[in-house]
Amino acid sequence: MRRTIYDEDHEAFRASIREFLAREVEPHLEEHLENKQIPREFWLEAGKQGFLGLEIPEEYGGAEAGDYRFNAVLMEELSHVNAALSSCVGIHADIVAPYLVELTTEEQKKRWLPGVASGELLVAIGMTEPSGGSDLAALRTTAVRDGEEWVLNGSKTFITNGYSADMVVVAARTSPDKKARGITLFGVETTAEGYSRGRKLDKVGQPESDTAEMFFEDIRLTDDDIVGELDNGFIHMMQKLPQERLGCAISNLAHARQILVETLEYVKERKAFGAPVGSFQHNKFLIAEMFTQVDVTQAFVDQCVLAHSDGELTAIDAAKAKWWTAQVQNEILDHCVQLHGGYGFMNEYRVARAWKDARVSKIWAGSNEIMKERIGRDLGL
Ligand SMILES: Cc1cc2nc3c(=O)[nH]c(=O)nc-3n(C[C@H](O)[C@H](O)[C@H](O)COP(=O)(O)OP(=O)(O)OC[C@H]3O[C@@H](n4cnc5c(N)ncnc54)[C@H](O)[C@@H]3O)c2cc1C
Repeated sequence: MRRTIYDEDHEAFRASIREFLAREVEPHLEEHLENKQIPREFWLEAGKQGFLGLEIPEEYGGAEAGDYRFNAVLMEELSHVNAALSSCVGIHADIVAPYLVELTTEEQKKRWLPGVASGELLVAIGMTEPSGGSDLAALRTTAVRDGEEWVLNGSKTFITNGYSADMVVVAARTSPDKKARGITLFGVETTAEGYSRGRKLDKVGQPESDTAEMFFEDIRLTDDDIVGELDNGFIHMMQKLPQERLGCAISNLAHARQILVETLEYVKERKAFGAPVGSFQHNKFLIAEMFTQVDVTQAFVDQCVLAHSDGELTAIDAAKAKWWTAQVQNEILDHCVQLHGGYGFMNEYRVARAWKDARVSKIWAGSNEIMKERIGRDLGL
């Protein structure tokens, strides 16, 4: 089905990303895998091309696109290459950058935004802790007032870009008696005394993304490091989660579509019993169902993208888009592995890696259960 949400400017932007990915990224994908990291050269090149600053005003080095559809195109194209690329860039440019654009003072904008746009300041967000991620309001990292300063103690885990980040937006408890109303966000530079990081975590999928634990031991911060309002961090995170979840939805679906298209090619070529495996009725129907699933899901996600571009996307619709696309993506990739037979289980095949890479989409950024909990509550249940 022809998609109508993008115009020629978006498509020209898509072409420039494709050209960049083919030239600068695809030849190095094996190195990303081996090093369990996307190298700084990638970030600097992506910064030069203007891909990291879509949300950032021009005066701070950004492209100031002013239209979320450009972010959507970027996420789609990165997802076509692999899921790790879209999650790492997504955290930096689509998730953390908006916090730093919308919640910061002039001094903070000057301090952080040019580096985010250029790729020189790699950023991450630390919400989840070893004790739990779903119940964000129960987080245990504390920032305690000491004269003019704050003293940060605690730890975070599973943080995307966490190993190589230069700055992390950290959620910490500033008012112990207020639960959700007592959390503040701090911009913590990773050169700060008392900051340390754990190893790169050994994940089932997306090995190219560096996911890490981080530890804070008596890190001294000031009011100038607070991102947004004191004690209002939980509200800030809730306000930003719809964009994070929409970004996940866009990526989930683009990733599934890409591997499905590649699988279609495979089942046309691969023969069993003297015929292409795609020609057997079971497989033909399965593939027909999956393309239908992708197209129908795309219609909903596209409406969410338009709604978000107009500033009207609700947290509930973002939650629906996130859990549904994660489910669709995982179902489709499982079928795609099956259609590849034994090759589908070999790490050297893209389909096998994609299947492993996708599993986390039902867990992170609010699990499928948490999404349904949120939707159910909205229905008065
Ligand atoms: C690769 C990866 C990258 C990540 N990147 C980041 C990042 O950059 N920044 C960050 O802050 N976090 C990040 N996360 C953390 C992620 O958001 C959390 O893992 C997620 O929110 C779930 O939290 P948890 O792992 O503590 O699970 P738990 O909260 O312990 O949940 C365990 C299970 O219980 C279910 N559950 C919990 N509460 C309910 C309920 N009320 N009803 C029904 N079921 C429930 C959950 O759905 C889940 O199935 C990342 C995680 C991974 C794996």
